[in-house]
Amino acid sequence: MPENNSYQPETLAVRAGTVHSQFNEHSEAMFLTSSFVFDNAAQAAARFIGEEPGNIYSRFTNPTVTMFEQRLAAMEGAEQCVATASGMSAILACCMGLLKSGDHIVASRSIFGATVNLFGGILKKFGVETTFVSATDVNEWTAAVRSNTRLFFLETPSNPLTEISDIAAIAAVAKKCGALLAVDNCFCTPILQRPLELGADIIIHSATKYLDGQGRVLGGAVLGSRKNMEGVYQFLRTAGPTMSAFNAWIFLKGLETLKIRMDAHSANSLALAQWLEAQPNVARVFYPGLPSHPQHRLALQQQKTGGGIVSFEVKGGREAAWRVIDSTRMVSITANLGDTKTTLTHPATTTHVRITPEARAAAGITEGLLRIAVGLEAVSDIKNDLARGLA
Ligand SMILES: *Cc1c(COP(=O)(O)O)cnc(C)c1O
Repeated sequence: MPENNSYQPETLAVRAGTVHSQFNEHSEAMFLTSSFVFDNAAQAAARFIGEEPGNIYSRFTNPTVTMFEQRLAAMEGAEQCVATASGMSAILACCMGLLKSGDHIVASRSIFGATVNLFGGILKKFGVETTFVSATDVNEWTAAVRSNTRLFFLETPSNPLTEISDIAAIAAVAKKCGALLAVDNCFCTPILQRPLELGADIIIHSATKYLDGQGRVLGGAVLGSRKNMEGVYQFLRTAGPTMSAFNAWIFLKGLETLKIRMDAHSANSLALAQWLEAQPNVARVFYPGLPSHPQHRLALQQQKTGGGIVSFEVKGGREAAWRVIDSTRMVSITANLGDTKTTLTHPATTTHVRITPEARAAAGITEGLLRIAVGLEAVSDIKNDLARGLA
């Protein structure tokens, strides 16, 4: 497509990054090849020392993966995207590329569980320390800064309570102390939220979720300036958790329907959240698109809709929550999210079972809390499926 920054994200989702082979295929080709051949010895030498651009080996670059990277970069408004084998390897690559032993991270407490383990456990072994702070209280971020703070890390809305972090305000604190702000944009995708425009430096994706949107493959991405992505790319090229061509092709096709899927996930979620709020056996509903959400105004300033995740607390604790789950006949009982199929999770006994009961209570993950990742089924069918257990 012609170089033009004025295209809307949904146009970029369909058109950006496409490169045609000699066959002029219309749909992007999947290049399942581990390596690439050279015309002669001189060309091989020129490619290896970086004098001539081009593919060498699929751990370094692959044309299908490159198309996905270019497309997602255009959608996020980033100079460069580096695709990875999973969301977690994106976060690992981000840290390995940008940090060194002795550096310090300030991270939201309300981030993906494996990210907490990566920061608080694995990186700690290598001399990178993390201070965990409130997702919503900017003063805690300011207070946690040290002279060696290099990275701020957050996820908004958070899982499962849909807390909203003020990206612009936290980016300002990061800028002041010379740290980079990384935002895990998994829940919103560039269709609903564009963190770089709000002052973030780096975007992380678990492409496994909405970018595929159909629960098929794992993948991830790190996006940012060419300068910041250089070390991230070098880590991947050397250590190898790169995205496979097959998965990149799935994600390219997934991106093409991202806008209509996010709109539909959002519309279903809002309707379901409003309905849940009216149920006598529901104590509380957590959804940024509801006026009752404590950060409703901030949410709608930085994201286009409330998104596709709704949490709610039923009266009657674990027993009542499990009854809702066990009374369903359609929705999937699983911890995954960002799928066409609605999924229902009891965080206290699954995704958040490894943290202490005290920490769980402090985080607001009560025994009656349920999380729904709202799918694309008719919202009336989703309501009916939940109504049985709520009755
Ligand atoms: C799932 C998820 C991840 C990890 O992604 P994987 O693809 O499972 O490695 C990271 N962040 C968020 C917000 C997620 O939901």
